[in-house]
Amino acid sequence: MQNLGSEIVVATRNAGKVKEFEPLFRQKGIAVKSLLDYEDIPDIVEDGDTFAANALIKARAVALQLGVPAIADDSGLCVDRLNGEPGVYSARYAGEPANDEANNRKLLEELSKLPAHESQSDTLSPARFVSAICFVDAEGRIISEIEGYCEGEILSAPRGDHGFGYDPLFYIPAMNKSMAELSLRQKNEISHRGKAIQALWDDLDKG
Ligand code: IMP
Repeated sequence: MQNLGSEIVVATRNAGKVKEFEPLFRQKGIAVKSLLDYEDIPDIVEDGDTFAANALIKARAVALQLGVPAIADDSGLCVDRLNGEPGVYSARYAGEPANDEANNRKLLEELSKLPAHESQSDTLSPARFVSAICFVDAEGRIISEIEGYCEGEILSAPRGDHGFGYDPLFYIPAMNKSMAELSLRQKNEISHRGKAIQALWDDLDKG
């Protein structure tokens, strides 16, 4: 496998993401640093149209500022009946500053505005989490770009208190649980982020 060294910088200030990344990288003997360790790095403007574009923007910005290889995850929730929203706007769906509870409320509000036959509470809305991971070298050149997905449905009320973001509203039929009812280990086994990181290892193994 291409050598990632013993430490990697993940271009995020999202403590929930960092918590999930740590065990995934620890398995490979790699310690995770994040932007929570580098407070001087200014906020990065994520103005890409796609998860992949935003992941590259974040990874490259951090690699060039710190002069080290970096990994970024740009992720979000895509709800079929909302034509893929909130998508790349997931973090700030309900406006600035980003607030998970407000985002969840807005998601339920938007679904409740749909015509009755589409928003009946016993008819769950198909949705997926997407994670685009970009790994760049210290010069910002792409080493690997990969995506991971997790299919589910949107609940009509939150369930569970683990995880972050939209986890309490994201139901996984095969487990009969919301994402927020899973342990960290369970979530990493099935989540978009866990799958993207597994795909990253496979990609690096090839090259
Ligand atoms: P990003 O930091 O710009 O990639 O925004 C990610 C946003 O997508 C988060 O703030 C959450 O709202 C949502 N999101 C991404 N991954 C997850 C997850 O694993 N669970 C719940 N929400 C997520």
